[in-house]
Amino acid sequence: MRSALRGCRQSILSLALFLCAIVVLCTLPVLAPSPALAGPTERAGTVLTVGVPTDRCPMFYEDAQTGEVTGIGADLMRAAAEETGYAVSFMPVEEETLKDALDNDAYDVVMPFGSAITSASGKPSIVSDNLIQTPFTLVTTNGRNLPTISELTVGMLRSLGGGAETVGELYPGIKIEFFDTMAQSVDALRAGSVDALLHNSYVWSYVLQKPSYSDLRVQPSAMFSMDFRAGALDTPQGRQIISRLNAGIAKLSDTKRQAIILDHTSRRLYRYDLSDYIYQYWPFVLPGVLLFVALIAVTVLRRRTYLLEQEKKMQRLIDYDQLTGALSLEGFKNRVQELLRANPDVPYLLSYTNIKGFKFANERLGRKAGDELLRFWVTKTQETLSDVEAMGRIEGDHFAVLRRSGGEEQIKRDDAEVIDAVRQYFTNRNAEYPLHVCGGIYVLTAEDYRQVNVDRMLDYARQAEKNVRRSRDDGYEFYNPDQWIRDRRAADVVRHLPVAIQTGELQVWYQPQVDHATGRIIGAEALCRWEHAKLGWLRPAEFIPVLEEHGLIQELDLFVWKRACEDLQRWNEQGLHRSVSINLSRSDLKEGVDIPKLFLDMVAEHGLTPDQLRIEITETAFVEDSDLLIDTTVRLRELGFQVEMDDFGSGYSSLNMLKEVPVDRIKLDLRFLSGAGDPERGCIIVSHIIRMVGALGMRLIAEGVENAEQASFLQASGCNEMQGFYFYKPMSVEDFESMLGQ
Ligand code: C2E
Ligand code: MG
Ligand code: MG
Repeated sequence: MRSALRGCRQSILSLALFLCAIVVLCTLPVLAPSPALAGPTERAGTVLTVGVPTDRCPMFYEDAQTGEVTGIGADLMRAAAEETGYAVSFMPVEEETLKDALDNDAYDVVMPFGSAITSASGKPSIVSDNLIQTPFTLVTTNGRNLPTISELTVGMLRSLGGGAETVGELYPGIKIEFFDTMAQSVDALRAGSVDALLHNSYVWSYVLQKPSYSDLRVQPSAMFSMDFRAGALDTPQGRQIISRLNAGIAKLSDTKRQAIILDHTSRRLYRYDLSDYIYQYWPFVLPGVLLFVALIAVTVLRRRTYLLEQEKKMQRLIDYDQLTGALSLEGFKNRVQELLRANPDVPYLLSYTNIKGFKFANERLGRKAGDELLRFWVTKTQETLSDVEAMGRIEGDHFAVLRRSGGEEQIKRDDAEVIDAVRQYFTNRNAEYPLHVCGGIYVLTAEDYRQVNVDRMLDYARQAEKNVRRSRDDGYEFYNPDQWIRDRRAADVVRHLPVAIQTGELQVWYQPQVDHATGRIIGAEALCRWEHAKLGWLRPAEFIPVLEEHGLIQELDLFVWKRACEDLQRWNEQGLHRSVSINLSRSDLKEGVDIPKLFLDMVAEHGLTPDQLRIEITETAFVEDSDLLIDTTVRLRELGFQVEMDDFGSGYSSLNMLKEVPVDRIKLDLRFLSGAGDPERGCIIVSHIIRMVGALGMRLIAEGVENAEQASFLQASGCNEMQGFYFYKPMSVEDFESMLGQ
């Protein structure tokens, strides 16, 4: 029974223990809530998430090594929280202001606050006890005097919005401007738009280490102190966290606080950025940068010079023949192009020369001797070349030379000086091996200057050289002998003109002009004649274009005009007031020559009246240079000279010209009738021209009248003034005077 009782007691005890255990287990969560069941309040039991700004060194900043948030504020918070069993996790606030951050429930608390404020969404908040008293100081630029506090405009960071509210309450008159960054606020301070900047003085102790802020000064007295508290929305959980924190804050000793402050303010926290280095070291940076740029520039220049030199070397290799130093084919062609473009007035000829049987000379006397001969040829020729001439080695023993054309004598001189020395090269060196040299010459034409084609010129000269090689052993031939003769005659004409004027080779002949109705001689045209000492009688058609081309026509015309004036003066003195027509070339109208004045001086000098000179200007000249010629014509007529349009009908006559050019007389060229086309139609045109010219108030003379039929047709059509072989051929002045005398 006793054992049964003991067993029953044991069972009751076990049951009681079991029940106690259940009661204890059931009450435990109330005493120490488990994180899983407790919601936000339970979170506070372990980890407290604190939202902080991280740009407030040394209050809050990210550790350079670990990247963790630290600082005076962070360490104080951690110390207080840990006193009450919290583990603290700091989270950088993303929001623009702490007011906004309050509304974000990712943070358990947010800091720092001076006092409780309303969140951005309008909810009330509560704040913890003060962790530390932080002094706020003004900073301004060196030497600036601040106005009284009531007139002060201060700049603050926008993120210090809570601080700004406190300032507003403490100093109601103060104006506050907000800036997003410290740099912007400093710029505004320097620009004078704010008087001073206001910030936590621990932060200033950091910021003012920036070298470029050395012009900023802390105002000596602290302006005010602000509390440094953690805040949360005023909710049951918020209140619970804050009250727990307050317990921890109460346990913070002053020594602990001072140790934390000292720890962060004594560290060298300020980190230089690139702009700081540039600012601090610019006396070194600037020369450094300049040196660097100079080095780069020198390197680039040297590289360019090197490349240019290489290019020049390459070009030299292309342009010059390595063996003889003469131009290569390519180089010669380029040089000829250059020379022809630069010297369009120089008459050139191009020779192509080749040693007949050079191959055998090479075989017999050795390649070296052959090479020496080629070098000798080049040196010898180059001695005779001027700057505007060129020599090229085309291939092997084939050479081309572009030479200024200097007549037969020049060719002979070259032959004697250069080619003869080549012919005798080996003989003169005791090898008794005379050489034969064949040459072809191409005389450049005007077309070659307009369209430079060196290959074609070389081909022509080579063809002439081939002819020589085929037909004989030695010598030269022209590709275009006609051109050569023409050029040679032209050269003779040009060279000889001054002598011809002096010696009387040049004469002025007259071709009478008649009135067919009465048979009276009404004037004469002065025409130039040249009995050349070497070439015999020359026609104006040959020498006038040559003189025009060489810019010498005015010398001839001045001579003719003067001679005509002298004849008129003599006739005047004999009491015979005659008029003669003289020819004016378009090339007489050069720049700087005042033709009307020149004629005026001439008639004055010879005691003539201007109407005694009739100035013939060819129709084509009016087409080519109408403005200048119309102007000259107008001025000549104003001075009393007669102006005639020569050769009307032989060129590209246009009705417009008849309308525009104000001449006294039209000289209708009857060659118009003998040209291609139906003569009858020509007659119709002529008779209408005669009538039209009359109706336009101008006179008309027909020139080139060769037979009675033409004369009577003209007369019947209303034209009486005529000039032509039918009446008289041009005659010497003596013949003209004796004819008039009869
Ligand atoms: P132009 O001024 O038209 O002179 C008339 C030309 O026609 C002259 O030739 C004359 O001899 C020729 N002629 C005259 N009647 C007849 C004829 O019935 N039948 C044919 N077939 N021809 C006739 P020329 O003297 O040979 O002069 C030729 C051109 O040379 C002139 O043509 C003129 O433009 C120019 N000229 C002549 N002398 C001078 C001068 O001193 N100075 C200038 N600048 N040019 C001149
Ligand atoms: Mg004429
Ligand atoms: Mg004429």
